[in-house]
Amino acid sequence: MPSPADFHTHSTFSDGRLSPTQLVELAYRNGVRIMALTDHDIVDGLPEAFAAAAKHPDFSLVPGIEMSSDIKGGEIHILGHFIDWENPPFRERLSRLQESRLGRARGMVNKLAQLGKPVTWERVESFADEGSVGRPHIAQAMVEAGHVENITEAFDLYLSRTGPAYVERDKLTPEDNIEMLLRVGGLVTLAHPAEGGGLETLEPLLARLADAGLSAMEVYYQDYDAETISRLRELADRFGLIPLGGSDYHALGNPRQREPGMIPLPMEQVTRYLQLARERDALKRARGPAAVA
Ligand SMILES: [Zn+2]
Ligand SMILES: [Zn+2]
Repeated sequence: MPSPADFHTHSTFSDGRLSPTQLVELAYRNGVRIMALTDHDIVDGLPEAFAAAAKHPDFSLVPGIEMSSDIKGGEIHILGHFIDWENPPFRERLSRLQESRLGRARGMVNKLAQLGKPVTWERVESFADEGSVGRPHIAQAMVEAGHVENITEAFDLYLSRTGPAYVERDKLTPEDNIEMLLRVGGLVTLAHPAEGGGLETLEPLLARLADAGLSAMEVYYQDYDAETISRLRELADRFGLIPLGGSDYHALGNPRQREPGMIPLPMEQVTRYLQLARERDALKRARGPAAVA
């Protein structure tokens, strides 16, 4: 059952395959009327997304971002919505993160050369298009060079956390990220909470993140089944979080992928989130009818 809202999507400005314009058009065709563009650690796709959204008077675009945070033994992803994405200190902080990511990607390319699986930096960059270079782009270059069959194999054999070409990121705690997003007036949502450590480790994490200013958690995510949804829903209620959702659409052809809006996110929860954004005066940073409703 599709939803008219989707709070989690990616474009070519990070690791998605569709431009912001193509993404807005696809979402619109799917019946989505409120969409957040949440590229990884970058907001540069937003001007194009806003321009595409402006062609549809009944469509609202929410300025967003997805940020990676390190926790013991893994990483979690945090979404910021309704952010003041043009704020200069925020942009400066993002470009510093970007520089450190570039250094890291170059490090992985160097390691691959040492492992006898060379890829050129130019090819890696070309896969990233105008977006930030990351492991998926290195993986694509590896497939192209014939070192592996597909992207999954590139991760499994070389680029995963325990892989021989892996280079650690600069560490950011979830509190760092939440603070950074709250500072630019954003509402903060925990992304895909059932990934990684699974639901067992989630309770103490939610207590910690709720204290830090988390407002919502993805419950209606991608292909989560009814049982996962109901367990997450119960946890969201317990920690006073709005059960939100998104497709996390990348257009990568992954079998778990759902197109924008193809998630069972109830409108009632969308309304709660918009209401909270209104109370925080954050809704004005969205553009389109939701912003004025
Ligand atoms: Zn994510
Ligand atoms: Zn994502």
